[in-house]
Amino acid sequence: MCGIMGYVGSKPALPVVLKGLRQLEYRGYDSAGIAIADKDRISVLKCKGKVADLENLVKRENFPGSTALGHTRWATHGEPSTPNAHPHIDCSGKIAIVHNGIIENHAPLRKLLEAEGHTFRSDTDTEVFSHLVEKFYRGDILLAVQEALTLIEGAYAFAVICQDEPDKIVAARRESPLVIGVGNGNEGEYIIASDLVAIVEHTRQAIHLDDGEIGVFQPSGHRIIDKANMKVEKDVESITWSLDKITKGGFPHYMLKEIFEQPETIYDTMRGRILKEKAQIKLGGLEDLIKLPSAEKTTTGLSHLLNSKRIVIIGCGTSWHASLVGEYLFENMLGIPVEVEYASEARYRNFIVDKDTTVIGISQSGETADTLAALREAKRRGAATLGLVNVVGSSIARETHCGVYLHAGPEIGVASTKAFTSQVCLLALMALLIGREKHVITDQRAGTIIQRLLEIPSQVEEILKKSSLIRDMAQRYAGFSNFLYLGRGYNFPIALEGALKLKEISYIHAEGYPAAEMKHGPIALIDENMPVIFIATDTEDQTYQKVISNIEEVKSRHGQVIIIASEGNESIYDVADTVITIPETEYCLTPLLTVIPLQLFAYHMAMLKGYDPDQPRNLAKSVTVE
Ligand code: GLU
Repeated sequence: MCGIMGYVGSKPALPVVLKGLRQLEYRGYDSAGIAIADKDRISVLKCKGKVADLENLVKRENFPGSTALGHTRWATHGEPSTPNAHPHIDCSGKIAIVHNGIIENHAPLRKLLEAEGHTFRSDTDTEVFSHLVEKFYRGDILLAVQEALTLIEGAYAFAVICQDEPDKIVAARRESPLVIGVGNGNEGEYIIASDLVAIVEHTRQAIHLDDGEIGVFQPSGHRIIDKANMKVEKDVESITWSLDKITKGGFPHYMLKEIFEQPETIYDTMRGRILKEKAQIKLGGLEDLIKLPSAEKTTTGLSHLLNSKRIVIIGCGTSWHASLVGEYLFENMLGIPVEVEYASEARYRNFIVDKDTTVIGISQSGETADTLAALREAKRRGAATLGLVNVVGSSIARETHCGVYLHAGPEIGVASTKAFTSQVCLLALMALLIGREKHVITDQRAGTIIQRLLEIPSQVEEILKKSSLIRDMAQRYAGFSNFLYLGRGYNFPIALEGALKLKEISYIHAEGYPAAEMKHGPIALIDENMPVIFIATDTEDQTYQKVISNIEEVKSRHGQVIIIASEGNESIYDVADTVITIPETEYCLTPLLTVIPLQLFAYHMAMLKGYDPDQPRNLAKSVTVE
């Protein structure tokens, strides 16, 4: 996690870097710092706290330099404090570095460097790198960084500046994101950032560094070297996101903006992928050719998927919940065996996958460390890997055999909302595509589901109109400190997701369960202090009556009952203290609707408690460390 920002060019670097840090603050915000190279020194200013605190610190000084680095930290090693904030410098103060990731062998390296006489100023893993670069510096900062990297184990994105070569930034990455914005050729400027968000207002041209690559960037041009120490010519790619997509657009928080964007983002996920007249789905990314080492011939991602004996879906957090909806969709609609795994578990156990398995990795950022590692392991074991990610050009997108983008636009709110609905929507499209190819879904059934899918954006719009109603509901329940979320079938994962959202941003303890499991334990918790949120939408489903019985069980123990139900279900009011309705749709698509009131509920709860939902404590977007 953390945000790295760097500028080298002809303008004063400080305002560019500070603005970039504000845009990247969602990635980490326990401390912040900058380093600026001027003619005869490198100045470092850093502090515990937010970018605003850093700005106050910087205000008193004047730095004309045109080369600078910035960092917003999400601590992994060493508590959030001013000495532990990045940038870190070497003993001489001539080299400054910022880092995202974890240096796993920092302890032995530190011992070695201390024995050689280096003095450390922080408790971080990162600082060993500034001293290593110092150790190897003999007048060429690129060579020194290259040499230092050979000793580093773990994940990193680094940016380095040096007083003796003040017009250069050296940047390198392995398993942590780093993008280079290429400014107008005449101006000769580069913006180095963890995320495109901090780049787009300066340039629409970007270079994605691949794992193991290292580059030197200066106004006169750049040079990139790969793992094998060969110079590589990288493509400069065009960024197509518009600027208003990455600002708050009038909403008080990114999270709320992203919740309200969902009619559009769900539509964007479907755009160009549905051939309505033919009741067919087209997902270009699955048509790419793949060749597994163990297979005789090349095939497409889709053919492999169709012939797979098993599908394994992996993810973390909200993406894991989307994976569970995928399991229900694929098994119910296609009859293919599906397993859902936490990526963090899959990567370290005897993960049994082979050439007849397709492993689907789901991650908003495409950088989630556990998901990436589990996909690599699956690939090593001969499985075909497929990525469902939002961030174009991210590590998972590049390392999987094939994949499909969410097209939900940048998600900045730490608690994932719009990425989740796009993930579920994409899984529904995939189920339809596979079902049509395998002839297990009829024309008529596919036509109906497609029609209902196309109605989802306007139905989400309807639910969003209830935001103030949901705020009132949050007001009624704001005094409770525990919640239970229960659902069955397609809405069991939504119970998990609703509980996760409440925990993440309102810091209220909440648990999600399959409703029928309540009697195997959680029922012991029910009393007048325990609100229970039921999702009970599909009156035709065989489990509906059973959920109603669970509701009665809660009522008879004086629990508070909140129900997410379908419009027109009048009898539900007899058993509920509070009802929020959603428009009627196909049962398999209800997760796309039932999750919306739960996202809003968590948001309003956080507001009532005075918490900042865009920067929830201890959490960070895009978990790029283990
Ligand atoms: N491991 C480094 C630290 O704790 C970097 C963490 C980050 O990625 O923000 O300072």
